[in-house]
Amino acid sequence: MHFHGPIVRPQTDADSVYIEVTVGCTHNSCTFCNFYDGYPFYVAPMEQIRADIQEARESYPRARRIWLNGGNPYAVATDKLIEIASLTREAFPNARVSTYARVDDLTRKSVEEMKAIREAGLDDLVIGFETGDDEALAYVNKGYTAKDIVDGCRKLEAAGMTYRLIFLGGLSGRGKGEAAAKKTADVLNQLHPTILYLNSVSILPGTPLYEDREKGIFQEAGERENVHEFITMLSLLKNDIAVFAAPNTTPFSFYVDLQPNKKKLLDAMQAYADSLDEREEARIAKERSEGRSV
Ligand code: SF4
Repeated sequence: MHFHGPIVRPQTDADSVYIEVTVGCTHNSCTFCNFYDGYPFYVAPMEQIRADIQEARESYPRARRIWLNGGNPYAVATDKLIEIASLTREAFPNARVSTYARVDDLTRKSVEEMKAIREAGLDDLVIGFETGDDEALAYVNKGYTAKDIVDGCRKLEAAGMTYRLIFLGGLSGRGKGEAAAKKTADVLNQLHPTILYLNSVSILPGTPLYEDREKGIFQEAGERENVHEFITMLSLLKNDIAVFAAPNTTPFSFYVDLQPNKKKLLDAMQAYADSLDEREEARIAKERSEGRSV
């Protein structure tokens, strides 16, 4: 197998077979992100992808999940993506085939292209939409708006493609979490993702957001505000959705269907928020900024 950059995937996809399709991310300029520092965007050659799919089939014939690795392989030209999806489906007829997409990848593909890619064998996408707050999206240089999120995901739905969304709390900064939660809920209530992943932003050394915080340009929200952003947003969600949180950037660990468990979940989150004192908030902020579990 060939890998020329980091393997990055959701926690829920850790037991996948990984096939390198791209290295890095086409955008590579969100101000909080250092995932692909030092790895300029590159699309793996077809000979490499073909050889890796063949090797994976021989090594893991019963694999149930395939992760097409890279920052946003959905940016790859539609013809090539169809070929990759077809080869993967042929090698693993019973596996789920997943990958990352950016919102602007959805803008660039038509519903017909999305449908053709799905029919060829790509089953679902994972999209770090981050927030429905346009001001925060612009500030961290995501390169799209809340309307682009809704328009792009609706195209996926029209194409019959399932997708999961990653929320990144705290991006709006101190004092703005409640308003951001309402804007995010407004986006999500127009969509039907299968899973919503909860995360809070980690302000990592070396990133532009870290510099902004050091200069006092960005005021970081505390843990209590981040949890309240989760609570407000989740309380407003109307559609059926599973919610996943893991204790790497949140204090929680759960994977539940939201609607039947909403009250119990929100009560537990509120109890946690009420238990936080300033010392605990400081400890969590420090650990998160060092990229460690909270
Ligand atoms: S789109 Fe994702 S991988 Fe690319 S720079 Fe932004 S956060 Fe990082």
